[in-house]
Amino acid sequence: MMGRIWTGDELTEDTTLTCDVCVVGSGAGGGVLGLELAKRGLDVVMLEEGGYHTRRDFDLDEAKAYSTFYQEGGNRATDDLAISIFQGRTVGGGTTINWCACFRTPPEILERWRDVHGVKGLDTAALTPHWDWLEERLSIRDWPIEQANRNNRILWDGLGALGYSRGTVKRNVRACAALGTCGVGCPTDAKQSTLVTLIPEAVEKGLRLYANASVRQLSTQGVRVTAVHADVLDPATSRPSGRRLTVNAKVTAVCGGAINSPGLLLRSKLTGRGNVGKRLFLHPVVISQARFRERVEAYSGAPLTVYSRQFIDRGPGKLGWLLEVPPLLPLQSAVALSGFGAEHQEHMASLPHANALLSICLDGVHPGDEGGTVALRDASEYTRFKVRYPLRDFHWEGFREALKVSARIQFAAGAEQVMSPHSRPVVMRGEKDIALLDRAPYSPLECSVVSAHQMGGCAMGGSPQTSVVDSTLRYWDLDNLFIVDGSVFPTALGVNPMETILGVARWGSQHVAAAVGSTA
Ligand SMILES: Cc1cc2nc3c(=O)[nH]c(=O)nc-3n(C[C@H](O)[C@H](O)[C@H](O)COP(=O)(O)OP(=O)(O)OC[C@H]3O[C@@H](n4cnc5c(N)ncnc54)[C@H](O)[C@@H]3O)c2cc1C
Ligand code: SF4
Repeated sequence: MMGRIWTGDELTEDTTLTCDVCVVGSGAGGGVLGLELAKRGLDVVMLEEGGYHTRRDFDLDEAKAYSTFYQEGGNRATDDLAISIFQGRTVGGGTTINWCACFRTPPEILERWRDVHGVKGLDTAALTPHWDWLEERLSIRDWPIEQANRNNRILWDGLGALGYSRGTVKRNVRACAALGTCGVGCPTDAKQSTLVTLIPEAVEKGLRLYANASVRQLSTQGVRVTAVHADVLDPATSRPSGRRLTVNAKVTAVCGGAINSPGLLLRSKLTGRGNVGKRLFLHPVVISQARFRERVEAYSGAPLTVYSRQFIDRGPGKLGWLLEVPPLLPLQSAVALSGFGAEHQEHMASLPHANALLSICLDGVHPGDEGGTVALRDASEYTRFKVRYPLRDFHWEGFREALKVSARIQFAAGAEQVMSPHSRPVVMRGEKDIALLDRAPYSPLECSVVSAHQMGGCAMGGSPQTSVVDSTLRYWDLDNLFIVDGSVFPTALGVNPMETILGVARWGSQHVAAAVGSTA
């Protein structure tokens, strides 16, 4: 049976559907789950609040892309505005607009989940066959250093000059033209997102996908979810059209990603004994900006192809970080680069010479690091989420040391000037100026922090007292509700999360299928 993709404008009246499994969200977790269930012959309905955008819509118009393909028009942030949060909202979710870096989960993280959080049966051996399959299916291959753009090469050279460990990144691409525009959608379909791979295959196998369908609530009775209620959105405005879509499914799988999945549960009055919305991790990032005499053109070429985990483990109680580079597309840079007025104009004029290093900090693995929280602002159905993420001395110490290391790497690679991400940037013209970073202010809004990797909020664990889902991804207190996305991670990872989410979803699909009664 062939499935189909509907958009909001096609639903002209209230609609009720029945199916085996309702999957909420079509990103990394939802995309894999939808295919695996459809492959087993199950009747699957997938609801996605974002629009159905394909390569024809990925026209490199940044202004349109962030406001259309990202959560809250690209303006999501913590409640105190101290951390900007970038997250996908389109068919394919984050996989449609991310930068293609693929990493398997570090074994020590899975061991921590087992030993500290009581997760059972989810280890490297269990995930390996799923990663093997995904790497083949999504064409996840090394991007060799010979093909690195100058932006990545700077990181590679700087790491080498200082004797730090370094590696090249695997990417989920096929015939990639190295345009560098992954963050605004791939116009050539080279990026092997769920949008162009697993979802079309699932549709061929019968999946019914409704885009512009924003799930507002789950109804429950006793220990079961009885209905999934969605508002149909107008694709042109993303506002509710007034029409409702209701799905009655044997099993429901929430795959809305960290922040949205706990948010949906809270709207549905499912608090997981107080654990829903807790342990939100953001991989908080500080960015060190550098200027080189030669052209770097960091907006062009495969965006993220070199990394270093040299500083991921700085010992007990110290925040560690992963080093990578971001692409510097013009609009994104205009928002992210420091300075105001003439100073900012000058930075923008020299964008072709700019390089930036990301320090992606590993949160949730030190005693007392409970991360952030997601809550509802008020009782109204369209209330915005209140995302809190307290930044403490522990974080600021890590950020400061990370900025010092980044500056050293950038100077070692030949930078003329390095700037910190402070609202009044520390401008360094050589090694000796790095000490100035010690005197800079480290507090919310004075030093900019961003996040593109959200995890947690519906933590998996060994006890309903401390977690939201069990080791089969099932909500502890309901028989037919599963959560299958990055929100189930009990800690952050210290590597880019997509491949872990894909792997966990494929591994978890067996449990979701079993709950419908499928033994295939
Ligand atoms: C700019 C950027 C670059 C990134 N680069 C990388 C990278 O290079 N490598 C990497 O590993 N990771 C990267 N990431 C992160 C990665 O894309 C995410 O971690 C991953 O996609 C999360 O998967 P998920 O299934 O948890 O959620 P998502 O992929 O975010 O999918 C959730 C989907 O559910 C939908 N949804 C949410 N709530 C509802 C609702 N109530 N009703 C209906 N639908 C709903 C959302 O619209 C979304 O499409 C990047 C992210 C961004 C934003
Ligand atoms: S770099 Fe490759 S994957 Fe990214 S947008 Fe360009 S062609 Fe697509």
